[in-house]
Amino acid sequence: MSGIVFAQHATVDAFQRLGAELALGALPVSRLVERVGGTPFYAYHRRAIVDRVASLRAALPAALHLHYAIKANPMPAVVQLLAGLVDGLDVASAAELRAALDTGTDPARISFAGPGKTAAEIAQAVAAGVTLNLESESQLEQALAAGERLGLAPQLALRVNPAFELKAAGMRMGGGPRPFGIDEERVPAAIARIRAAGLRLRGLHVYSGSQNLNAAALIESQQRVVALAERLCAGAPEGMDWLNLGGGFGVPYFPGEKPLELAPIGEALSALVARARDTLGVPLVLELGRYLVAEAGVYVCRVLDRKVSHGQVFLVTDGGLHHHLAASGNFGQVLRKNYPVAIANRLDADATEVQSVVGPLCTPLDLLADRMALPSAGPGDLVAVFRSGAYGPSASPAAFLSHPPAREVLV
Ligand SMILES: *Cc1c(COP(=O)(O)O)cnc(C)c1O
Repeated sequence: MSGIVFAQHATVDAFQRLGAELALGALPVSRLVERVGGTPFYAYHRRAIVDRVASLRAALPAALHLHYAIKANPMPAVVQLLAGLVDGLDVASAAELRAALDTGTDPARISFAGPGKTAAEIAQAVAAGVTLNLESESQLEQALAAGERLGLAPQLALRVNPAFELKAAGMRMGGGPRPFGIDEERVPAAIARIRAAGLRLRGLHVYSGSQNLNAAALIESQQRVVALAERLCAGAPEGMDWLNLGGGFGVPYFPGEKPLELAPIGEALSALVARARDTLGVPLVLELGRYLVAEAGVYVCRVLDRKVSHGQVFLVTDGGLHHHLAASGNFGQVLRKNYPVAIANRLDADATEVQSVVGPLCTPLDLLADRMALPSAGPGDLVAVFRSGAYGPSASPAAFLSHPPAREVLV
């Protein structure tokens, strides 16, 4: 089966066409709508997630540890599926921690990041035995206190705010003044504090940015992280358990964007894995979110009304930014661009008409496709928004206008 190709977009591999209809495996979208119980909903394609992890593993060195950052898609069934495919889970809240523990994943393979951990969250992490990626000196003190109170040795790693920035990242999270991590200059003192408390540093974590489609920039950042860890650990009496390089692997959402080239990253990582084994005695960890799930998801809504205003056609749907803020362009985009969109029950028809797809909310921000060439559509037709497997419902203002929440299924 071949993927669906859109005029303005790259292939959407995870989905097929059955006659006129979009299909997930053998399941046509009209039947899926009935199975779910109506629109709007998100469907995540199990096969696509499994294949994604397999092709990533094939391109990367075998000794590299692959983690899933749950915040990209915390749906319990998705987390459960990924727990069986990756080497560890990264969480950033108490609820994500519970979701990770519920999968049966060994707490030793779960880490907890986030700049605003509450005392209760820190205590939960210590009690669970997961590793805290500490983002400040006061988090370190709170973790030590929680360990003392509970009579447990807290598992501690430090998130480092490096002096350098990740180039070409869609969202930068390291370099210069940041709420994330401990400035690299202050890390040696934090390591000394951990030792003074009679504990070991389990690892270092550097996360410099997200949504990067530039292989060379990612490789440079990974090399700089290893060099940074070598400097920070020079002269350390005992080793750590791992070095977490972060992730940042991007997904092509918009026309003209190309998928990340994995081959050069895999090659560079092979050399880095060997280097880190020699100089630091640790395995490398990569933590990915959207890269593992974004392309496996589709958001499906139904056209309620078709109207023409001053010559422009609007398809008004039952889904919108309250479920899918990212597709509306309001989740960090500077210039709004269209996600790949299709009329899911008219895939056999030519894109003959320029139409805009909007949601039901009373705001001009509720736009799912801006003046896009699509097959002519009207009430009852189904709209599919692709690349929707990450930062969907959990990253959208579901309560805005008080419509029902989006349903989610793993198919
Ligand atoms: C958000 C985040 C991720 C996942 O980012 P993606 O862009 O979805 O891959 C991973 N690690 C940390 C620390 C994060 O904050």
